[in-house]
Amino acid sequence: MNNFKNLRGTVDLLPDQLIKWQNVEKIILEQLFRSSVKEIRTPILEMTDLFLRGIGEGTDVVSKEMYTFLDRGKRSCTLRPEGTASVARALIQNGLLTKPFQKLWYMGPMFRYERPQAGRQRQFHQLGVEFIGYESVRSDIEIITLAWDILEKLGIKELNLEINTLGDHVDRSNFQKAFLKWLEVNKNSLDQDSQRRIDKNPLRILDTKNIKTKKILEDSPRLFDFLSEKSLDRYLTIKEKLKLLKIPFIENFNLVRGLDYYTHTAFEITSGLLGSQATVCGGGRYDNLINQMGGAEIPAIGFAIGLERLILLSGNELEKSRETDIYIVNKGSNAETLAMQLSRKLRNYNLITELDLSGSSFSKQLKKANKLKSRCIIVIGDIEALKNEFVIRLFINVNSKNQEETISFGDDIKLDNWLKKNLLSTVLP
Ligand code: ATP
Ligand code: MG
Repeated sequence: MNNFKNLRGTVDLLPDQLIKWQNVEKIILEQLFRSSVKEIRTPILEMTDLFLRGIGEGTDVVSKEMYTFLDRGKRSCTLRPEGTASVARALIQNGLLTKPFQKLWYMGPMFRYERPQAGRQRQFHQLGVEFIGYESVRSDIEIITLAWDILEKLGIKELNLEINTLGDHVDRSNFQKAFLKWLEVNKNSLDQDSQRRIDKNPLRILDTKNIKTKKILEDSPRLFDFLSEKSLDRYLTIKEKLKLLKIPFIENFNLVRGLDYYTHTAFEITSGLLGSQATVCGGGRYDNLINQMGGAEIPAIGFAIGLERLILLSGNELEKSRETDIYIVNKGSNAETLAMQLSRKLRNYNLITELDLSGSSFSKQLKKANKLKSRCIIVIGDIEALKNEFVIRLFINVNSKNQEETISFGDDIKLDNWLKKNLLSTVLP
């Protein structure tokens, strides 16, 4: 027999792990809802050209990491490595850019062919947020605040916000000229990877992880010195406002972000608890992307949070699931039919109801209820079925008669009152 295995860099998320995922997602969705950000879902599979154009051919993601293949119609397709290009495409294609301002989020799997390690997979998940049509400095602040607050709401510790500005395209091209001149002189001192980037995407050299190259780069021209007054002003206002909001940050002039489309603000949030894969959130402004992709000139800013890293960081208290509220113990042909009807009725309440389907002895069924720590049990046997009634009792008080009640099938008012008095008033959120 062939033993099948999942592909390297992909993982199965099992029921016990998913409790934490669901709790994390719930907190995120609440915060997005309260911040009036709306969901958008785009296909996981896109035309390869979308990413070539949207992300840029000189980037690591496009040149080394994409899952690209020909479909049966010989079209080049790619499993999305990120979400922004798809969102931009969807907005253009569906004529949604006529709306002046849109705050959007998406969450789902992304694919990058990388070396798998803790916090780095080939299929991973991102939450992305995009503010489309927003130009003001305040939108930069609001999006940074949103990312920061989501991470804080999840109880994540040792957060560091790093910010930088990439200027507009004029600032960038002025800098690039000076930087290329410097690179010509210093080329041979750089690592191989950085040398290769000189022709393809020199800005990315600033983002190198090579320690020796990093040291040499300390003497290179700085993009910061090429900023126009307007760009500089924008950046200074951002710093000032972050201070006012008491969001601590550090400036990192080498933070250029991996994708080509960024302008002005770039930011990352890292956690000291993550080790080498420290970045949990990356974001920035991309005022030229939508235009580059065939839409109007529409400014935008966004971020993406890696959910695997978020899960690694968030506390154990999020691993707890809600307990069973009602366990229905039932045996005998008529009793079993009545139990099925009752379980459907109970599922109209915000209660977790489990119907025992084993047909085993009452004592075995009660043991199962006990194991599940069910807050309450319902018992229906032949005798109850004959009288067309059931017994409901709080499980923690097995011996105390006053929390036990016999209720006739059909007496919905009595059932309703009992549930309200004993279970619904204390239901966990
Ligand atoms: P890194 O430098 O770690 O490769 P990146 O700059 O490529 O990150 P982005 O494209 O900015 O990452 O994606 C945003 C976030 O998505 C990252 O900060 C990270 O949390 C997460 N992420 C990116 N790639 C992976 C991956 N292969 N596995 C798990 N999470 C990832
Ligand atoms: Mg990467």
